[in-house]
Amino acid sequence: MNSKIWYPYTQMKNMKEPYEIVDAKGVYLYTKDNKMIDSVSSWWCMIHGYKNPEITEAIKKQADKFSHVMLCNLSHAGALEFADKLASYLPGNLNHVFFSDSGSVSVEVALKMAMQYFVNKGQKREEVLSLTHSYHGDTFKTMEVGDDEDYHFAFSKKENVTHIDTNIEQLEEIFKAKGESFYCMIVEPLLQGAGGMRMYDVSFLQRARELCNEYGVLLIFDEVATGFGRTGNRFVADLVEPDIICLGKALTGGYIGHAATVASDKVYEAFLGDNYETALMHGPTFMGNALAMAAGLKSLEIFERENYLSKIKNIEKIAKRELKDYKNPNLKEVRVLGACIAFEAKNSQKLEGFQDFAYKHGVFARTFLNIQYAMPPYIITEEELVKVINLMKAWWE
Ligand SMILES: *Cc1c(COP(=O)(O)O)cnc(C)c1O
Repeated sequence: MNSKIWYPYTQMKNMKEPYEIVDAKGVYLYTKDNKMIDSVSSWWCMIHGYKNPEITEAIKKQADKFSHVMLCNLSHAGALEFADKLASYLPGNLNHVFFSDSGSVSVEVALKMAMQYFVNKGQKREEVLSLTHSYHGDTFKTMEVGDDEDYHFAFSKKENVTHIDTNIEQLEEIFKAKGESFYCMIVEPLLQGAGGMRMYDVSFLQRARELCNEYGVLLIFDEVATGFGRTGNRFVADLVEPDIICLGKALTGGYIGHAATVASDKVYEAFLGDNYETALMHGPTFMGNALAMAAGLKSLEIFERENYLSKIKNIEKIAKRELKDYKNPNLKEVRVLGACIAFEAKNSQKLEGFQDFAYKHGVFARTFLNIQYAMPPYIITEEELVKVINLMKAWWE
């Protein structure tokens, strides 16, 4: 191994050689001598699959004009149009779009907005309510509100953050005990991804919304992973409306790294004033990047035109059919929600070797913790999906 790349979440001393990708098209990744279905959509973002001609063309067309201009004192049609479109797609009062370059930063911005909302109102609130097993990113504030010792064990300090399970009784108790000390409650709605593909019921979010209203707490949905259809809803925010939503991963169809934090009118208005004191002081260099805006706009257009929600429903239907009554003594649970299929193993060591096994059978897969999963591009065919599911099962036989 003499590469100069420092890989993520990897012990570099004994890293397994990564597969070198030379081409990609549709759901397929190509190495020099293999072709494999990407069952994880390149960390859950590549919803249209690779080399979508329309998105590629939109990026090329924008690159011929300009690839980037700063979004402070300058603006451009792509950013204006994409912000408008997002605001009209998102439910209710989620109308004010702050672009940034990654999901972690979009969560940082959301937390900053929520914190400063109360500062601007002259109220003192210093605590955050979050969920056990939550993951919100790898930057410091997101690690603090997250609850993922498996990722961030080297930095376990959690100041002013309370974690509860997705349990309505615990939720009611914590609000009763200290609801007025929270400036926000932050959740990955319906599906906790990196914390172990944990799925929970919408009734928890409905009750959280009520209690946040009652105690004046801002509700943040981190939909970096769940946004754009993954749970079978375009956004979970379509079911329960948060005060702030974070979008990333699939925002550009996965073609260029970008993210957005979208705030409600109420949050936005608390930042209006006569001087900089109440303004939001944040400004990523690459916010509103023109290539990202072009990709994002085209991605949304295709999502709507090709009725992706029905494709996702179909993926869910096929997965449920293929996994009906499926049990294996090595598995604790099999879960399906939207276009997410997760097998929870009793013993994480039993997953070692699955990646090579999948590779040999023409599938790219990546397990984490004790989870074996598929989050395929929404364009996957029935035959390809069944192949992926059968391979996941075959590992245990
Ligand atoms: C991936 C993810 C993030 C972090 O996004 P990056 O673009 O990797 O910084 C934050 N929140 C959730 C829920 C995620 O799944």
